[in-house]
Formats: sequence, C-alpha cells, structure tokens
Amino acid sequence: MPIKIAGWQKLSLIDYPDKMAAVIFLAGCNMRCHYCHNRHILTVQANQLSFDEVLSELCQRKAWLDAVVVSGGEPTLSPNLIPLLQSLRSLGLLIKLDTNGTRPAVVRQVIEAGLVDYVALDVKAPPRKHLAITGMSMEPVLATVKYLKSQKRVPYMLRTTLTPRLTTSDLLEMGHSIIKGASCWQIQQCRTIGAYSDAEIRAMVVTVKNCAPHVVVKGL
Ligand code: SF4
Repeated sequence: MPIKIAGWQKLSLIDYPDKMAAVIFLAGCNMRCHYCHNRHILTVQANQLSFDEVLSELCQRKAWLDAVVVSGGEPTLSPNLIPLLQSLRSLGLLIKLDTNGTRPAVVRQVIEAGLVDYVALDVKAPPRKHLAITGMSMEPVLATVKYLKSQKRVPYMLRTTLTPRLTTSDLLEMGHSIIKGASCWQIQQCRTIGAYSDAEIRAMVVTVKNCAPHVVVKGL
C-alpha cells in the first residue's frame, strides 16, 4: 500500500493509556509548531518504510501488544489512512489515532466507521495564539474538539504541550473556553526546548484542574 511511514516504535508504554502499544509515525504535517519534536518527518520526502513489512512484524509481535497508535506528522492527511486502519483492524489490536485536529471530517469518518478505539487531539494554544505557535488557524481544530465532545463512540483526550510561549493565563483561557466539557485533558512537558520546571508546571496545572474531570500531567 503506498503510504508514507517515516518510522515506527515497536513498544511504547506511554502512548496509549494503560496499554502496551506499537506506534507508527506517518510522514507529513500541515502545521509547523515551533517546538516540533518530529521535524524530520514533516515533509512527505522523509525516509519511508514499507507498510507491508511493518504489518508483517506487527502480526508476529501482536501477542505482546494491546494496541497500535497511528501518529505523525499528521495521519489524517494521508490519502490511505482508511485502508491502513482497516489492515491494522485485522490484527485484532486496539487502535489509537493521534491528530492535530485540522481534518475534522476525517476524524469523524474513522470514528463512525469503527476504525479507531481512542483519539488524542492536540489543543496547542488559545485561538489568538494558535497561528503564531502552529502556523495554522484554529477553526478546524475547534470543530474537531466540538465533534469529539459530542460523540460517545470512543474515549478521547485533549492534549496541550507546555511550550514557553503559553502562560498560566493562556491555560486558563483554554481550560474555560475550549477544554470545558471534555472528559480528559493531558498537559505535557515540552521536550524539545527549554520550558517550565516541574514545580512551575504543577503550579500552572493546579489553576486549571477543575476544567475537566481528568486533568493529567505527562513528562515530569
Ligand atoms: S502538529 Fe505535531 S508533527 Fe505537526 S508540526 Fe506540530 S508538533 Fe510537529
């Protein structure tokens, strides 16, 4: 299948909540986040692996896995996302989609087709900072947030990376205007550039802990 796989991780204990998962990274992204940890795969010219080989190895390893995560880059840009998910479904593993939320129709399509079991959606900034931080308008992301909140088919989490360009008041604005009504908000340390200390992050998270039933912190 012609699909641009930039790499894959054979085992991760942190990418699917409470599950042992493999992670497939699809090349290409329509955002340009200043802190991107996968900058080398943002263009589809990135190194590519054969999906058939990845699928064959996943098949051999599936007894030791609960799930597979389809990440990127931005997987919803891939024209072959649906057949890729259908092939992964045949393995009998849970499937999680990581997305930046810019293709709400694709997120809806894969959920309604029963092709994913969990979605993690990045909410990267409040609307007035979104363009500066990601290079894209936030409108489609807000549509994806709205859809995820409205559906009951799959669990999901909203995720925010604490780049130094986000302040406590930005988090509060996001918490009250975007996150409110969602089931889970994961706030994560920014791994690529100097950011906040663990103590500063804990203090920031305390201010927004009532914005969702589950506000969790990752990366401390
Ligand atoms: S959405 Fe993710 S992969 Fe795309 S530029 Fe931002 S951090 Fe990188």
